[in-house]
Amino acid sequence: MPGTRRAPLTAEQWGLIDAAWLAGDSAPEIVEETGIPYRQVRYAVPRLGHTFVKRQRCRGPVTWTPEKQREYKAKYDCDRLIEYKRMVFDHYGARCICCGEDTLLFLTIDHKNNDGAEHRRQMKQATLYEAVVKMGFPDSFQIMCLNCNRGRWLNGGMCPHVTPAWTGFHLEGVG
Ligand SMILES: [Zn+2]
Ligand SMILES: [Zn+2]
Repeated sequence: MPGTRRAPLTAEQWGLIDAAWLAGDSAPEIVEETGIPYRQVRYAVPRLGHTFVKRQRCRGPVTWTPEKQREYKAKYDCDRLIEYKRMVFDHYGARCICCGEDTLLFLTIDHKNNDGAEHRRQMKQATLYEAVVKMGFPDSFQIMCLNCNRGRWLNGGMCPHVTPAWTGFHLEGVG
């Protein structure tokens, strides 16, 4: 609803959402609109009355045949992807290495060497989590919250928490 805000969740509620998310309490769904295929994942936490819809433009084929659809579903199988995510958080720790944020929904994997874009272009797997597991958890990755991850990217490689922030955006880095 535009203009309305949910009441903030308590720590206990966040815990339940994290647990549901990790347990794969969600259902993948593929929708087609305006000729562009999307992968739509609905994270439902019925106990709390919350539903999260995450929708991403998929990298899969544009025209769907039953075969392609099966292939696509296998590649983007939700339970499997969540399992990789769980393994990555188990290995690196489910906590932002910069600010200590530990709510799973805020966390992401960070490339220490800032070569994320290049790596993403090269990798064959559906998600970075899967790629990291298959590479055997290299030291070049770490867990960061999305704030620190984004701030580090915009701030020339250091999170603004640890080094003074740029006073203006350097637009080359925005993307
Ligand atoms: Zn952080
Ligand atoms: Zn930070």
